[in-house]
Amino acid sequence: MTGTKIALVGIGKIAVDQHVPALNASDAWDLSATVSRKGSVEGVPAFTDFHQMLAERPDIGVISLCLPPVPRFEYAQAALLAGRHVMLEKPPGATLAEVITLQKLAAERGLTLYTTWHSRMAHAVAPARDWLADKVIRKAHITWREDVRKWHPGQDWVFEPGGMGVFDPGINALSIMTHILPEAVHLQSATLEFPANRQTAIAAQLQFSGNVSADFDWRQTGPQTWDIEIETDGGHLALRMGGNVLELNGQPTAGENTIMGEYPALYARMAELLEMGQSEVDLAPMIHVSDALTLGRRKETEAFFF
Ligand code: NAP
Repeated sequence: MTGTKIALVGIGKIAVDQHVPALNASDAWDLSATVSRKGSVEGVPAFTDFHQMLAERPDIGVISLCLPPVPRFEYAQAALLAGRHVMLEKPPGATLAEVITLQKLAAERGLTLYTTWHSRMAHAVAPARDWLADKVIRKAHITWREDVRKWHPGQDWVFEPGGMGVFDPGINALSIMTHILPEAVHLQSATLEFPANRQTAIAAQLQFSGNVSADFDWRQTGPQTWDIEIETDGGHLALRMGGNVLELNGQPTAGENTIMGEYPALYARMAELLEMGQSEVDLAPMIHVSDALTLGRRKETEAFFF
């Protein structure tokens, strides 16, 4: 059996680190083309022009877009208009409205649109969700502190409008939060710290309803922190290492400290959606970011240079 032909667009950090290895390791997929202005993958036909690839390769039915969020919409729209199924990196767009436009377009044309949230595929997220399902949440706190220079070296787009700043990693935490909490919460207040020379925040503190709060910071050097701590009527849950390790009442109970399973799981889900002829579009994490940008109090902080 040969795999489903797929084209990968935007051959940069995440495409090389995760998408290419996940596709190469799967019999379900055949990486049949790349589209990137500079990037390519050895042994795979490389295009620099997306419209040319769509025209010359009608045999490729699925497009996975790994571009930053701002340029992504035009590619996604062109792919759907050309009758291709589409998988979007997180965050699914630069604005909520453009993703809703894509959702409508995919539905009208009977195509699959999948807004991926890779952190939801972390090893311990499903067991955490199951454990929380019948609990009352008393308090929850997210600490998502990492070093932007390590994870986004020289990527100035993260500090440009639409780049989301610290919400680029923070939205991963929110994608887990919105997936595991048994009741939805909404943002009540936020403080956003903007470097004097940049357009997006480098740190943010968020307060949600239901005694849920979050602390995002991109200035943490040394050990990195991706933790979610939740107090419930049935004990204490902690998700550590970006959702990969689960602790219940202080004892590690599930997961493993590696993110290598997330992207294979995303591609397995895309294969399932294609098989079922369905889309999966969830904007909940992005709504919280949008609300933080609507409601947030601005604080200026030290200028940032890579
Ligand atoms: P990146 O390396 O800066 O960009 C990916 C590629 O997109 C670039 O190499 C570039 O390829 C192409 N590109 C950039 N700007 C473009 C533009 N204006 N028009 C057309 N193509 C453009 O970014 P990344 O870190 O891979 O992130 C991409 C997406 O994946 C983001 O939404 C991010 O949130 C998500 N993500 C990133 C990570 C991570 O660790 N970095 C982890 C998970 C998810 P060419 O120059 O060859 O065209």
